Amino acid sequence: MKKATTKKGVSKTKPIQAFVHASYVYTGEGIVEKEGRMLVPSDLSGIEDGAVVFDSDRILWVGPTSEIPSEYKGVKRTDLKKRNAIMPGLIDAHTHLVFAGSRAHEFARRCAGATYQEIAEEGGGILTTVNATRAASRQELFELALKRALIAYRHGVRTIECKSGYGLDHEAEMKCLKVVSDLAEALPQMTFVSTYLGAHAVPAGMKKAKYIDEMIHRTLPEVAKKKLARFCDVFIEEGYFTLQEGERILRAAKKLGLETKVHADELSNTESARLAAKLEASSADHLLKISDKGVAALAKSDTVAMMLPGTAFYLKAQFAPARRLLDAGARVGIATDFNPGSCYSLNLPLMMNLSALYLSMNAAEIFAGVTYSAAASLGLQHRKGALMEGYDSDFVVLPYEHFEEMYYRMGW
Ligand SMILES: [Zn+2]
Repeated sequence: MKKATTKKGVSKTKPIQAFVHASYVYTGEGIVEKEGRMLVPSDLSGIEDGAVVFDSDRILWVGPTSEIPSEYKGVKRTDLKKRNAIMPGLIDAHTHLVFAGSRAHEFARRCAGATYQEIAEEGGGILTTVNATRAASRQELFELALKRALIAYRHGVRTIECKSGYGLDHEAEMKCLKVVSDLAEALPQMTFVSTYLGAHAVPAGMKKAKYIDEMIHRTLPEVAKKKLARFCDVFIEEGYFTLQEGERILRAAKKLGLETKVHADELSNTESARLAAKLEASSADHLLKISDKGVAALAKSDTVAMMLPGTAFYLKAQFAPARRLLDAGARVGIATDFNPGSCYSLNLPLMMNLSALYLSMNAAEIFAGVTYSAAASLGLQHRKGALMEGYDSDFVVLPYEHFEEMYYRMGW
């Protein structure tokens, strides 16, 4: 048995156990070897009648049940009777989990034909969410976000990225990031990764230049000092932040030791995907309007191209050109973009379904999108997103025999 040392320095045995006779264990090893590029379905690396041996922290062995090493023969076994497949825990690498208020009424207005402009003029849109989020206490925000995190968990999500961005002033943004720390403490069965997205919009009643100064000189240094976020993200878009402003904010974040992400080329082409590649950002997200140069830049980089097909679906917009990115050799992730305005869904398997239908992604590309490539977009690819010896004991037992059944079912 493996020994572990507790905080008090007392040696403690970590119980080892095994899941055996899984219909398949999808390790994703082929995806890891190719670093998520140019994938074919066999890169799922499914082991038929497979087994996983693990302790509370790490995976100790993966392979066919008939070949379990003798040292693990006596460990506690759970027999899956070839009815269930095992895959790495899903990773939702782009969510706006922390906010208050509802925009259901606005959704109904939009479906009845109201334009975004009309809704904004009625006081709707992001302003509604910002006001409700500012008014809510840390505890209230925590309770809302906790319920949402548990919904994601039930869909197989074990790692979730959460952005701030509905506070839009120093105090409220700090409050939202603290809520992500609270979630990590309350739900140790999930991994939370937090991202500071102060540059989501310019708060009403404040000059943009002044807000950018506040972010760079006050909020970002405090976020870095208190380790409240691993990433800094910027929404580069006409009417929000320009390419130059985005670059300034992201460079300031990098100087403070944060990693970067970009909401890029969503509603119009701003060449922000190229900026993401230039800054070696961990991901460039959305990309509906990415240019050919942007595709080429991402393909050459390690920056993950994050597809958010639920948002395009929800907005009835044209989907991102995933095939062009994949065929050029880019690493492509899939996330929900859960947020109150443009995608109210925490169902990552539904996004996998949309990726098959509308992004024409193959099984290994879809698998990588919510495992390896999603992990890479969060800097976690060496411990999450694959089932290999030494990786985190982070996997899900599917109620299906084959991985493909997971996204064949729509919205289950
Ligand atoms: Zn987003």
